[in-house]
Amino acid sequence: MGSGQVTSSVSPELQGKHVTVAGLGVSGVPAARALLARGARVTVVNDGDDARSREQAAALEKLGATVRLGDGATLPEGTDLVVTAPGWQPDKPLFKAAGEAGVPVWGDVELAWRLRGPDAAPWLAVTGTNGKTTTVQMLASILTAAGLRTAAVGNIGVSLLDAVLGDEEYDVLAVELSSYQLHWAPSPRPHSAAVLNLAPDHLDWHGSMEAYAADKGRVYEGNRVACVYNAADPRTEDLVRAADVEEGCRAIGFTLGAPAPSQLGVVDGILVDRAFVADRHSSAQELAEVSDVNPPAPHNVANALAAAALARAFGVPATAVRDGLRAFSPDAHRIAHVADVDGVAYIDDSKATNTHAAEASLASYESIVWLAGGLAKGATFDELVARSAQHLRAAVLFGADRALIREALARHAPEVPVVDLERTDTGAMLRAVTEAKRLARPGDTVLLAPACASMDMFTNYNQRGDAFAEAVRGLGA
Ligand code: ADP
Repeated sequence: MGSGQVTSSVSPELQGKHVTVAGLGVSGVPAARALLARGARVTVVNDGDDARSREQAAALEKLGATVRLGDGATLPEGTDLVVTAPGWQPDKPLFKAAGEAGVPVWGDVELAWRLRGPDAAPWLAVTGTNGKTTTVQMLASILTAAGLRTAAVGNIGVSLLDAVLGDEEYDVLAVELSSYQLHWAPSPRPHSAAVLNLAPDHLDWHGSMEAYAADKGRVYEGNRVACVYNAADPRTEDLVRAADVEEGCRAIGFTLGAPAPSQLGVVDGILVDRAFVADRHSSAQELAEVSDVNPPAPHNVANALAAAALARAFGVPATAVRDGLRAFSPDAHRIAHVADVDGVAYIDDSKATNTHAAEASLASYESIVWLAGGLAKGATFDELVARSAQHLRAAVLFGADRALIREALARHAPEVPVVDLERTDTGAMLRAVTEAKRLARPGDTVLLAPACASMDMFTNYNQRGDAFAEAVRGLGA
């Protein structure tokens, strides 16, 4: 699995060890602090040398760290251990040097696992190509509804290390893990874990689909109670089979159809559990209604089922699943309803930054004027367009790689009208929304699900979604 550079052989005893922290930022700074607090000699190396890095460097230097800005390539002399920010690509010279010198490399998740106390809260872990953040937030909401002390942490922007080492006490943590984090984390043994889905993404980083899948599959290693997989995505089940788990750990599927024994699924608009019931061959437990899921789009119901499976694996009652789902509302820019104008719904799914996410979005509505484009990150659009063509009223394309989408539309949906916007200035989104309004008919949905990253025209997907919402509000005025 993964690259051979990750080893788990070094003792967690850090006193006096020379640890190189690769990368400042959301994981590097807490990592450096934690290591210093445990008596390690810390050198931080960072590629960037901007104002923010200098500020962070100054704070760490005060605590006794040595910080080297502008050079993240060379391994400092005498390093015993490297602790890396998860995003750092495994083929960096620093890791090559570490591999040659027999120096282990840990990510922030590995460090958090090793530094957690003996009575630390167990982890319910979630990974997958899409839906991670939504699912861990749903899970945290369900656990909270069950009266448990919990938090959604990890790749979600809340440092796992801070949660593990902080003063707050938890009964259980809902942990989002990215494929990058899993790559550098050989040791964690979650109570239970879910892989939501697997589609090509970040392949430039991992090197191949196999390596990407193998890193995702690490989340199942050592699971004690349940490995939760997506019955509609056989690759996730393959990963369960390949994992080395604790004796008695069960494979639990989730499906949008009627569940088989040891699965959670949907029957007549009800989410049901045929896994964590006394007799799964003859009975099932009602958990919630599909309408309790916000929004009740199919992929999001799948996320809810995965969250429910992890919560049930932890022993949460059915009523808490329902209450937790009802209390949950998704983060911004994830299928957010912006407004209805002249009988047309305007939906912001700016977070659909890859084709797999956009496909789920496009499957959620009947007749769509699709706003798409941006940076393709090496993706191709043929499958997405071919599978979604029957939902498309029209498409409005923008951004650097829009020609790729236009060509896929010409190949697989030649009858769909396309507006190709060359503008990339700040007014471009207003123009796109105006064109969409012209093309939409009452009952249609205008859907921003770009299938691309945003950085060619916007700072990030948030700004792109905000520009869309602002343009839509302008229409209604
Ligand atoms: P992640 O944390 O994995 O990026 P998010 O919950 O932030 O996931 O959702 C990212 C995007 O993926 C959103 O555009 C959302 O509509 C889409 N999405 C969410 N869940 C799924 C799913 N189960 N399958 C496919 N796409 C999904």
